[in-house]
Amino acid sequence: MAREELVFLPLGGSGEIGMNMNLYGFGPPHSRKWIMIDCGVLFGDLSTPGIDIITPDPAFILEHKKNLKALILTHGHEDHIGAVALLAPKFDCPVYATPFTAALVRRKLAEAETTLDLRVVDMSARFEIGPFNIEFVTLTHSIPEPSGIIVRTKLGNVLHTGDWKIDPEPTLGPVTDSKTLTALGDDGLLAMVCDSTNVLSKGESGSETRVRENLTKLIAEQEGRVAVTTFASNVSRVVSICEAAAAAGRSVCLLGRSMLRVVEAAREVGILPENLTFVEPQEAGFMPREFVLYLCTGSQGERQAALARIARDEHRDLTLSEGDTVIFSSKIIPGNEREIYALQNMLVDLGVHVITEKDRFIHVSGHPCRDELKKMYEWARPRYAVPVHGEARHLEEHAEFALTLGVEESIAPRNGDLIRLAPGAPEVIDEVPSGRLLLDGAMLLPEGSSPMRERRKLAYEGIVSVAIAVDSDGELVAPPAIGILGAPHADEDGEPIAGDLQEAAEDGFERLARKKREDDEAVSIAVQRAVRNRMTSIWGRRPIVGVLINRV
Ligand SMILES: [Zn+2]
Ligand SMILES: [Zn+2]
Repeated sequence: MAREELVFLPLGGSGEIGMNMNLYGFGPPHSRKWIMIDCGVLFGDLSTPGIDIITPDPAFILEHKKNLKALILTHGHEDHIGAVALLAPKFDCPVYATPFTAALVRRKLAEAETTLDLRVVDMSARFEIGPFNIEFVTLTHSIPEPSGIIVRTKLGNVLHTGDWKIDPEPTLGPVTDSKTLTALGDDGLLAMVCDSTNVLSKGESGSETRVRENLTKLIAEQEGRVAVTTFASNVSRVVSICEAAAAAGRSVCLLGRSMLRVVEAAREVGILPENLTFVEPQEAGFMPREFVLYLCTGSQGERQAALARIARDEHRDLTLSEGDTVIFSSKIIPGNEREIYALQNMLVDLGVHVITEKDRFIHVSGHPCRDELKKMYEWARPRYAVPVHGEARHLEEHAEFALTLGVEESIAPRNGDLIRLAPGAPEVIDEVPSGRLLLDGAMLLPEGSSPMRERRKLAYEGIVSVAIAVDSDGELVAPPAIGILGAPHADEDGEPIAGDLQEAAEDGFERLARKKREDDEAVSIAVQRAVRNRMTSIWGRRPIVGVLINRV
């Protein structure tokens, strides 16, 4: 009989920050039972034209779907729940989440017009799923209800931290449950699968309480209109900003869909202070500028978000001008620099005063810096460290760092690495298929087969289309028709080049032996080559050439 094993398998989030998808398996290799922790997305950027949403490719686990017993969600950030509505209905298993996370998931399901078996559990829930005993443990982070997941098995216990920091003075929700973490260490923890985002940063990430104090001072200093932007999901920050506004005698007006959605979800589960009130945009428009504060989406420069529309002066409800202030209570997520600087420049051009975390201490990260990591390793005392939630350099640095914190072994996985955690020393025992799916329009396509690559090529190279009509004798019925897109239509002297290309297409076709002219593939290649060469000699660049053959 094959022996039982406990394995860990990341399908997303190990090698990138985003699209977290982690699996734990238990049993003999041929009949492992699985649970999944988190099912998130990664956002597209300028390098993925037309693609906003990227998910892990779950092909491996879909093959073992009947043994996938649960999806467990650690918290409500998009990189952890963003793909639930897209992928989880296919998994056909229950989804466990705490109330706030569940409230966000329900909104996603409604939007996608889909359903699943969503089971709401409390913040310290403990229950059995097949060979796994699961326990939620409360941590602190930049969203309500962040939970680590304790996975207990016959072969040892694992702490899957999810995202966390140690905020000794959170402004909303409880402090880190260090008691449970310490007890876990006392019992002997086999492995900790842990957040690596800030491993390159010294010290501590800082407390929301300091941010609240500084925001209160800063907002009180302002005289004109004030708009503040932050991550909508950071409900404690949202509340801090509302309280700072109230202290300065300002009413708060929410702008942006995700801001409204998150506040509604927080209110629904009862984590928003009762006395928090908001004014509608129509009402705010009539209030004196020093009596209102706008809380907006768009801290990352997103084009369609409220702040970008305000900066372009296209927002229905708010115009900013000389003497007004925009406060970014946020950080620049790497990759968004261009959009954010462009947004801030537009605001400055309007005469608006822009204040960011570079000017004042008005933002803290939600992830553990080195001193916090050290503390977590002291509490939980795992034998093995498995760093996840990071790019390659974060994972490797975390693996090294953990060795200095007393673990016996560190193993930094990449997506698709199947790691045996027990029995025996941890080891990569297999590599399973992994990859990405791109949401292209309404279609979810594997990266390799997505037309996004063609679009990226088109963006750089331009396209020449050639249409030819061939009769049954293998002769051209008319001169080839030429279409040019994203490439020059005329040479430097202004002479149209379509005629040259037409001639090249004709030559290319006529050089083919009569027999070959019956073969579409051969015709296509010959015409393509001739037109591309001609275009290269005129333009100095090689466009994509498409050939359409009409047999008449
Ligand atoms: Zn995350
Ligand atoms: Zn998070």
